[in-house]
Amino acid sequence: MTKRPRLVIFGRQGAGKGTQCALLIERYGAVHISTGDILRAAVAEGTEFGRKADEFMSAGNLVPDDVIIGIVNDRLAKTDVQQHGFLLDGFPRTEPQARALVETLGSSGIDLAVNIEVPLATVRERIAGRNRADDNPEAVDRRLQDYEDKTTPAVRFFGTIGKLVEIDGSGSEDEVFARLTGVIDTHL
Ligand code: ADP
Repeated sequence: MTKRPRLVIFGRQGAGKGTQCALLIERYGAVHISTGDILRAAVAEGTEFGRKADEFMSAGNLVPDDVIIGIVNDRLAKTDVQQHGFLLDGFPRTEPQARALVETLGSSGIDLAVNIEVPLATVRERIAGRNRADDNPEAVDRRLQDYEDKTTPAVRFFGTIGKLVEIDGSGSEDEVFARLTGVIDTHL
C-alpha cells in the first residue's frame, strides 16, 4: 500500500461522510482537507476573506469556484500533503472544481474518488433524527437538491476518467468503513 493515499470523498448530507473521513484519516494518516472546516476557520478569524466567505455560506450558497479552487491549490502545495497524501472532503463540489483539480494534479495525482451512496429517503430519516440547528426541512431539501444539481456532475466526472468507486453507505458505521477500506486498499 502506498504511504500517500490521495483520495476524494463524496457523499450527500447525511451519508455519514464526516464520520468516515475521521476514521479514514486515522487509518491512512493522510492530511484531511475539508473546505467547510477551512472556510469556517476563516470566518472565525474574521479576516477580510472570512467575511466574504461568510456572506455566501450564511445565505446557503456555495463560495465561488475560483475562490475555493485557489484555496485548495494552495493547500495541496504544502509539504505535509506531499509527504502524507490527502483526503479531500467537501471539494470538489461542482464540475468546474473537479476539472480544476484534475488539471492541477493530473489524473495520476489522484488515486480514487469514493462516493458513499445512501438513498435520499434514508438520509432524510437520518437528518430528521439528528437535530442540528441548520437542519430545518427547507434547508435540508435545498442542500440535498443543490447536491443533486451541482455535485453529482462532479462525481460523474471522476467516473469519466476511471477514478470513481461507488460504495453502499447503508448499515452501521463499521460496515461502511469496512467497505471503504476494502475498495481503497484494493486501489492503492
Ligand atoms: P455541509 O455543512 O453542507 O456539509 P461543509 O461543511 O462542507 O458543508 O461546507 C459548509 C459551507 O461552506 C457550504 O455550505 C458552502 O457554502 C461552503 N463550501 C464548502 N466547500 C465548498 C466548495 N467546495 N465550493 C463552494 N463552497 C463550499
